[in-house]
Amino acid sequence: MFTGIGDPSAAVEHVANQLLADAGVDVPPVPLELLASFQGITVVKTVDMPRSGMLIPLPSGDLEVRLRISDSPGRRNFSLAHEIGHTLMPNYSEGPKEKVDLYTGEFVDGNEEEFFCDVAARALLLPKEMFVGRCSELEPSIDNMLALAEEFACSLEATALRLDQLQPWPCVAVVWEMQLKPAQVKTRHNVALPGLEDMSVPQEEYRVKYHAGEDSGLFFPRFKHVDRSNDMIAGCLAETFFRGKCVLPGAKKDVVRYVEAVAVPYRDEHLTQRNRIISLVYQTEESACESAERAERLPVD
Ligand SMILES: [Zn+2]
Repeated sequence: MFTGIGDPSAAVEHVANQLLADAGVDVPPVPLELLASFQGITVVKTVDMPRSGMLIPLPSGDLEVRLRISDSPGRRNFSLAHEIGHTLMPNYSEGPKEKVDLYTGEFVDGNEEEFFCDVAARALLLPKEMFVGRCSELEPSIDNMLALAEEFACSLEATALRLDQLQPWPCVAVVWEMQLKPAQVKTRHNVALPGLEDMSVPQEEYRVKYHAGEDSGLFFPRFKHVDRSNDMIAGCLAETFFRGKCVLPGAKKDVVRYVEAVAVPYRDEHLTQRNRIISLVYQTEESACESAERAERLPVD
């Protein structure tokens, strides 16, 4: 599909890096409007509309991007980068078509072009070398994940996904969202038996939104759930942040790990508020500081 590189996602990343190099970008935040202009996008408007993003060919031959005004600046940046991604797809410039994106950044497998535009958006907003370089200068922590999202002007979820993909830190970034399992969504509208109405209504739980930790030895499969009584969930709901040891559902069995987490609700494509928690799950049961303190307390001969 692309430049002779076998792995299509790597090829998309390569094309995105070429655009960054052409535009001379080497520090965050990436100037997206400059990249857009390199791709013939001469107008970027923020408007009230029911979709996250649109890419519109103009009669002049230029392109216009529209972004939803009610989305957060980080989400709007992701959508703009996604629309730039459409222009990077092979053959787009030969026959520019209007693109309408209800929602961006979901990395949905079923639609190849949309998936690769999300891959391109991530590569443009969080360029691999710049991102890994900054991560190596920072302690792995939820505060520094928030700082990275601000520095790269993108959403926390996009930052978490990039952390999971590149694994620059010895921890796994997991996004948990209140949702039903796909099988429960199908049965939600079934008619309940009299007297059993409550039992037949499936309850949403905090579930893994994207599988995380592949190849790290700490794998969290998509849709695994964590009970609401869990320390991380209870802590985040009471005080927004949680730091401490906690039991989490791994692929085969529960694991006990040191976790830092933050509650970050957001509005979905229907503008409905969704409850979401983003966590860093460390490879150990205690934080790096606790290990260091313990080492200091050890008796020395
Ligand atoms: Zn799209």
